[in-house]
Amino acid sequence: MDDTNEQKTRTALVEAGRHLHDTGLVTGTSGNLSVRIGDQVLVTPSGVNYRTLEPADIARVALDGETLDAGATSPSSETPLHLGIYRTTDARAIVHTHAPWATALGLVRDELPSVHYAVLQLGGPVRVAPYATFGSQELADHVRRAMLDRKAALMRNHGAVTSGATLAEAVHNAESLEWLARLYLRAARLAEPATLTGEQLEDVRRRATASGYQP
Ligand code: 13P
Ligand code: ZN
Repeated sequence: MDDTNEQKTRTALVEAGRHLHDTGLVTGTSGNLSVRIGDQVLVTPSGVNYRTLEPADIARVALDGETLDAGATSPSSETPLHLGIYRTTDARAIVHTHAPWATALGLVRDELPSVHYAVLQLGGPVRVAPYATFGSQELADHVRRAMLDRKAALMRNHGAVTSGATLAEAVHNAESLEWLARLYLRAARLAEPATLTGEQLEDVRRRATASGYQP
């Protein structure tokens, strides 16, 4: 990992953490963020408040889990979850939040259906991963499976995870997921929400590809 790239990424992680904190997707020390560079991963430290987090506090681990730099405390307790997704997808950044609407949805449904074409950007309807204790390999395995062919998953009784080709995309996906969860839960209070068919989604995909528009 070259030094300039590493410093820029550390700063970007701190800024993204503050942004998620300021927009209410994480509170206090909840959630964590990471970026993969080659076969190493920069990840937020465990239990550090986003308001006081500094670039030097970020931890660095190898893809096999070895801690290379413990950062301010130790690598996030959810490091196994981040690494599991990196090992099995082409994700380059991952964001885990306890965003309120996304977390609420995971308590009452098994998936977020295609209620809006914005789900396409997340890879389709978003699965809810079964509950397991935070930081456990069991939770990492559940989330890894829920993320197959997706850039998002909900975590029952816990929160949400999104990924992206860049940190900006992973953050954007976390915000889209929260918007979709809120939309769905608001509509579900009134009646069963309408969903888009596979054909309608395919039509959006074709049009988006042809015009270069990102849903
Ligand atoms: P860390 O502070 O260890 O990253 O844990 C926060 C969290 O959200 C655990 O699921
Ligand atoms: Zn969490």
